[in-house]
Amino acid sequence: MKNTINILSDNVINQIAAGEVIKRPASIIKELIENAIDAKASSIQIIITNAGKTLIQVIDNGIGMNEHDAKICFQKHTTSKIKNTQDIMNINTMGFRGEALASIASVSSVELKTKTQKDAIGTYINIENSEIKKQKKIALNTGTSISVKNLFFNIPARKNFLKSDKIEFKHILETFMQLAIVNYSVSFQFNNNGKIIYNLSSTNLKKRIIQLFGKRYNEKILPIEEKTSIVSIKGFLGNPIDAKKTRGEQFIYVNNRFIKSTYLNHAIKTSMDNIITKDQYPTFFIFLTVASSSLDVNIHPNKTEVKFEDDQSIYQILKSTCKKSIGMYNVRPSLDFTTESSFEIPAYIQKKIPREPTLTINKDFNPFFKSNTEKNDTHTQKNTLFLEEDYTQNLIIKDIINIDLNYAVFNIIVNHQSLLNIIDKQRALNRIAYEEAYHMLRNQKNTAQILTELEYININATDLTLLKEHKNILQKIGYHINKFTDRGVEIKAIPVGVRPSDIKDILDFFLEKLKNKDIDLTSEFIQQNARKITFNNYSNDQLSNLLSKDILKSLILKLFHCETPFIGIDGHPCVIELEPHKLFK
Ligand code: ADP
Ligand code: MG
Repeated sequence: MKNTINILSDNVINQIAAGEVIKRPASIIKELIENAIDAKASSIQIIITNAGKTLIQVIDNGIGMNEHDAKICFQKHTTSKIKNTQDIMNINTMGFRGEALASIASVSSVELKTKTQKDAIGTYINIENSEIKKQKKIALNTGTSISVKNLFFNIPARKNFLKSDKIEFKHILETFMQLAIVNYSVSFQFNNNGKIIYNLSSTNLKKRIIQLFGKRYNEKILPIEEKTSIVSIKGFLGNPIDAKKTRGEQFIYVNNRFIKSTYLNHAIKTSMDNIITKDQYPTFFIFLTVASSSLDVNIHPNKTEVKFEDDQSIYQILKSTCKKSIGMYNVRPSLDFTTESSFEIPAYIQKKIPREPTLTINKDFNPFFKSNTEKNDTHTQKNTLFLEEDYTQNLIIKDIINIDLNYAVFNIIVNHQSLLNIIDKQRALNRIAYEEAYHMLRNQKNTAQILTELEYININATDLTLLKEHKNILQKIGYHINKFTDRGVEIKAIPVGVRPSDIKDILDFFLEKLKNKDIDLTSEFIQQNARKITFNNYSNDQLSNLLSKDILKSLILKLFHCETPFIGIDGHPCVIELEPHKLFK
């Protein structure tokens, strides 16, 4: 009988592996740049034509390879990065599987030029279908150049599977950005169809972000930093008020590896709960560092998902780190028709918020003063309001004109300069009511109101146990429990401003946060109560009482006393600065 089992040739094996590793031109760019980084290059040049379908070349000034290594680097399982099982537990290079070059060489025509510092002469190798076709010695600077031509020439089905140049180029750009951000100290030059599209010098993280995404980020990113025993976090958040309606620049890295994590994205998004709307996407550039032993190391080269040992804690720490950073900066929206997003922030007002905010007002503080930081954009500088502690005492508000029931314009005088603003009165009222309620609850000044009738809330057994354990938090805020029964709780008092009909919702919210082990539990619970109180407080004639200029003026002053004066609790601006030079552009 004829044998039916074949032993596959290396080339076929590599082509099968290539199916996993090399999906499209962008995958080759990723592997080649990562190899250059692993080779300690300080400068990397990328050249592509036709979205990488005809040529991808990556040239680096890294350590290079000697002749022997150059000859075997295209074989499967050849790597200089690990030797034994132990090494797998402690990987600090991007690659380690030794399959990228083998895969690439099985689906394209490759030219390698490489030289080490030690060698006087370099090596040239041409390989096709995993076979060395040509080899010679050549004169070369230390480093490596790999050209990949005619991708998938030998696998027509996969070649046909590639998308249009436009789409493939988009993937390449994404990959390039992901690597260029984290490797900010490496200089990159990117040449597409004969044109240089990026020429990035070695720099720091913030400047690299600006090199890639434009100067507007100079003013608009908030630094974040946190060190705990589980994870260290650093990076930048896009200013929340500039969040986009489309998924924008979202970059998270773990141990310098780009990852995609809806879970961690969610942590960042919820940290901005009060500031951005549900349909907006925050911008972020975040770097997490964890012990490699707490990470599933066997990450597939092409997969960007990771698994943490303690993902719940990392979620919580990330969320509170972002919150802290947002709380430390205050933003002021202004109209700008030149950007795709509707609101542009000229600068944030650097107003440190004390950990435990109080309502006391410092009466003898001085007014606005002009920015003296190294800003070079004159327009921005003109409009920068730097506020410190209490500034409203000397704040000059002039020329209030009602537009209609809901909107008014007014001038603020700062340094003899007049800034025209427009206010949304309802949002301002809500913001003020919300912050008042928040502080009352936070400082336990909100007296509990005794209910005329006990309010009975049904709760399942597991939730009841949880609730019992944390009833002190409820009590501090004004929820007094008369008794726990087998199936629920009897409530006898609730915070002033909350309605009995709100209790069910509020307890559900509280329980959900408890189950998620939310470290901001108390704070979020207070916020939720403050939101309820604000909306309960709403009445139809609030706005008609606001037509008098004196009353409006005191509303504006009160608003400017808020911690987040310029953004409504719905995430939209309360006050917008009108900048004529932008309007008439
Ligand atoms: P891995 O990166 O997983 O080790 P690769 O197939 O990507 O596997 O590369 C195989 C080996 O070839 C690497 O381990 C490295 O020793 C060498 N190599 C690849 N690219 C370069 C480069 N640009 N500079 C120096 N050595 C390189
Ligand atoms: Mg590699």
